[in-house]
Amino acid sequence: GGGRPGKAELQKARMRLSLQEHLWAFFQERVAIPSEEQAVARRAALDICAELRVFLHAKLPDMPLREMYLSGSLYDDLQVVTADHAQLMVPMILEKNLWSSIPGEDTIMNLPGFWLVRRENLEYFPRGSSYWDRCMVGGYLSPKSVLEVFEKLVAGSINWPAIGSVLDYIIRPVVPSETLTLEVQYETDRRLYVDFLPLLVMEDGVSLIAKPHRLAAERHENLWRQSFRVAETAKLRALDQEDAGCRCACLKIIKAVCKLNPALARLNASQLTNAILLLSEQEGDWTQEALADRFMQLLRALVGHLEAGRLPCIFSLKVNLFCELTPQEIDELGYTLYCALSDPESLLRT
Ligand code: GDP
Repeated sequence: GGGRPGKAELQKARMRLSLQEHLWAFFQERVAIPSEEQAVARRAALDICAELRVFLHAKLPDMPLREMYLSGSLYDDLQVVTADHAQLMVPMILEKNLWSSIPGEDTIMNLPGFWLVRRENLEYFPRGSSYWDRCMVGGYLSPKSVLEVFEKLVAGSINWPAIGSVLDYIIRPVVPSETLTLEVQYETDRRLYVDFLPLLVMEDGVSLIAKPHRLAAERHENLWRQSFRVAETAKLRALDQEDAGCRCACLKIIKAVCKLNPALARLNASQLTNAILLLSEQEGDWTQEALADRFMQLLRALVGHLEAGRLPCIFSLKVNLFCELTPQEIDELGYTLYCALSDPESLLRT
């Protein structure tokens, strides 16, 4: 064997090469954030976090919280296009004997990836025995009610103009917002959005965050969302480290594509990360030279998952990461990506 490559193959190789070049150029020009910009944004978020810690300790010394910390792509070097958002994690302490978690698939909602947190032992430890009883709704810890407690505090009783002027930022709570968000203007033309994310770490290591189900029906209001973000990000990074791979680069490119194309804005970091982790199970070659091939494969895989209406989370296969998209949104995303298969560079012209 070993005959010379046919004309079609050469043509294909040429197209590949150019897609490869375009992807890396797009990465340099649009995706990557200058390190100075990242540093300034991180600094601003840290300043706010420090102020909030002081305020909460002084104002609410009884509130059972662990130390708040910042997290998100800005801290994992996975943020793309602009350094404009971070999450402020607020870990809540629950008494082990007073609260238990029930997986969503064991409830009437039958929703893997979401959990209920039930108050236990009310007969021996009546209402009021736990600080968080004030956020109990119908016997369950309500994430909505927890967010409201923080909202009152953050939007109501903190003097943001005063803190802002000390730090030389303009800080204001964003209203209305789905979660609780602070807008920090740290230079005339630079803004950072910091989301408050109350967090429960259950005994079995399950992390639950107070981020409402998107298609929030009333019956979903007590659901806590399981977060796999720490595991997802660690796994992606570990795989890249083993083989000097391009998975993180590929993730950042597809994240930027989705951020810059309104038709794809509904695809989030968790879905895209899991799609890459699933692909990594089938595909071994993630060298820098294979970026264009893996990128095309990722697009095809996403089209396939969208056609099926289902994207499993690799850390819990029963979780469908598309479960918060409407059928129409799934169709539209699938259509946009399907069209891009024959002209992937169209995704980079934004
Ligand atoms: P990016 O915002 O697209 O750059 O992606 P990130 O990886 O920073 O993910 C942030 C999103 O994940 C936010 O919408 C969060 O609400 C959500 N999220 C879920 N779990 C976590 C978590 O454990 N930490 C953080 N920071 N965000 C989480």
